[in-house]
Amino acid sequence: FDDRDGWIWFDGSFVPWRDAKLHVLTHGLHYASGVFEGERAYSGHVFKLREHTERLFESARILGFEIPWTVAEIDAACTETMRRNGLTEAYLRPIAYRGSEMLAVAAQNTRIHVAIAAWAWPNLFGEDRMRGITLGMAKWRRPAPDTAPTASKATGLYMIGTMSKHAAAAEGFDDALMLDWKGDVAEATGANAFFVFDGALHTPSPVGFLDGITRRTVMNLARQAQMKVVERTIAAEEIGRASEVFLAGTAAEVTPVRRIGEHHFTPGRITEALVAEYGRLVRMSPEEVLRRAA
Ligand code: PMP
Repeated sequence: FDDRDGWIWFDGSFVPWRDAKLHVLTHGLHYASGVFEGERAYSGHVFKLREHTERLFESARILGFEIPWTVAEIDAACTETMRRNGLTEAYLRPIAYRGSEMLAVAAQNTRIHVAIAAWAWPNLFGEDRMRGITLGMAKWRRPAPDTAPTASKATGLYMIGTMSKHAAAAEGFDDALMLDWKGDVAEATGANAFFVFDGALHTPSPVGFLDGITRRTVMNLARQAQMKVVERTIAAEEIGRASEVFLAGTAAEVTPVRRIGEHHFTPGRITEALVAEYGRLVRMSPEEVLRRAA
């Protein structure tokens, strides 16, 4: 993925994609002192850009470091990165991490680096995802909020995600569903999970995992469509009782799920309505969104 044309915003200037390198003694690599974002642009506009940038700053704050830019500067850099690469439909990946000035657990005097890449990435689950993807049950659990900084989109929290995704893929599943430290339903490896029980939309309370921007967007869309939305603890044993299941995330967008382990589901009316509503919302211009909110 590193050997291609394009431009990456790196600490304030654009560098050719192939040259956007870092030192092997980078603290972020050794000790996971890094935070990142995943954003998507539709028709030239990054959807919920300000929210993503603010979450990047908050993620860094939780890990105890300060991003040496303003939110407005990073917003502008994201937009410029997309333009510079000639993209209007894009996935954007800002990352902030500690540099290589010190290499030990202590890292107070490291420089904080920020990079932003953008590329065309249609959907995490590909073209035929609308018939529903399959999830295996992960062996790894999302850690408790007093075990890891779970409210941060921190690089280190993705280690068990990658292991779970690989294990699920080896068994033929598209992704993994992870439980939390108590054994209740948490999320997939890169998206939040939704279930339909008795015609109402249920989603796990975001304790110990990311309260996704797409998750909150989908909950709002469902409420606007007069659906009942319930945020609660969902026990693993309840999964089989769901009539519909879907995932929601920036890269995944709204993706129907047709199988979790031994349980099978048929994407239905509620999932289809939210896929359509989300698709409409992300393509509205920022002016249109403001007009609607007014
Ligand atoms: N959970 C995890 C583990 C994720 O990586 C993501 C993607 N950022 C999400 C949930 C969904 O978050 P968002 O809707 O903000 O992209």
